Amino acid sequence: MASVAHGEEVPNRRVILKRYVTGFPTEDDMEVVSGTARLAVPPGSAAVVLKNLYVSCDPYMRNRMTKHETPSYVPDFVPGEVLVNFGVSRVVASGHPDFKVGDLVWGITGWEEYTLIPNPESFFKINHPELPLSYYTGVLGMTGITAWAGFFDVGKPKKGDYVFVSAASGAVGQIVGQLAKLTGCYVVGSAGSDQKVSLLKTKFGFDEAFNYKKEQDLNGALKRYFPHGIDIYFENVGGPTLDAVLLNMRNHGRIPMCGMISEYNQEQPEGQRNLFQLVAKRVRMEGFMVFDYFGQYRKFEEEMVGHLKERKIAYVEDVVEGLEKAPAALIGLFYGRNVGKQLVAIATE
Ligand code: NAP
Repeated sequence: MASVAHGEEVPNRRVILKRYVTGFPTEDDMEVVSGTARLAVPPGSAAVVLKNLYVSCDPYMRNRMTKHETPSYVPDFVPGEVLVNFGVSRVVASGHPDFKVGDLVWGITGWEEYTLIPNPESFFKINHPELPLSYYTGVLGMTGITAWAGFFDVGKPKKGDYVFVSAASGAVGQIVGQLAKLTGCYVVGSAGSDQKVSLLKTKFGFDEAFNYKKEQDLNGALKRYFPHGIDIYFENVGGPTLDAVLLNMRNHGRIPMCGMISEYNQEQPEGQRNLFQLVAKRVRMEGFMVFDYFGQYRKFEEEMVGHLKERKIAYVEDVVEGLEKAPAALIGLFYGRNVGKQLVAIATE
């Protein structure tokens, strides 16, 4: 990349939402448009300008593409405006005493080349640039801490627990499964292709894995893999998988409710039929939001960096190059096209 001078006006391509979405999103719901950005902050402000290096594709972005009648847990995107999500960036202009030009940070930025952030205080500085910077969109960023918080704080695992993970080869699932193995649990994952199943068993060290799309009877499959039942189900998908899991939980099992991707594009979710199992088996099913754990980020980061450096945790990411590929990459999550953590590389440092 050519270097740019402070204060200069530069081209700035951005991905905007064209219109609110119903059902599955299409590439036509988004558009890559050209604009400009000024590499300077307003005088006297504590703003920063970021050069975005990587942005993350995350399933919850679909929720933000819907116009909600009552406010959702995150603000709706606005047609005509740039999409925003977690990314890894370099500070190229700063009026904030804690952020210097050249700092590497991660946090919520724009799906564009340069972003003006009026208040950067929610951004985390990147402490380990010796690891691939893209890791801060995933295993060392939002999805990593989601896996860590959901598994340990909500799942409350014990050595020897029987653990089931859905969307197991994805950004969150691959980390949950490996944390469960490190805790001494027996771990089975489900995924939507034979390639992903093979990754689970060979790369991520799951004890067993299966392709849920090839199973006629999910309840029967779970009985095969868990003859003694499931202690922890890490829920990523909802739908028929959750219904089958409910029939296979052990007494006092835990279900960290991380997400339900199978329902994100449905106007009328099918619903669950086996919820009484929660009563009969005294199961605790509990939703959680990663945002509530950002206060523990430094503790998480040091732990995860240790695992990565000691090669106790393997990590697979699916990187597309260029902003123009971002809409298709995001949509691909809802068809299982991503193999590992989906992200977009926008620029080099
Ligand atoms: P991911 O697993 O990397 O990618 C999404 C995967 O979901 C796809 O690759 C696909 O894998 C699976 N999928 C898509 N449609 C499906 C369907 N109809 N039925 C079953 N599986 C389907 O995504 P991620 O970022 O790790 O997110 C996983 C879950 O965690 C999502 O539900 C997300 O919303 C949630 N999440 C929650 C929080 C929180 O704070 N609570 C934070 C981050 C993520 P297969 O090929 O295996 O089907």
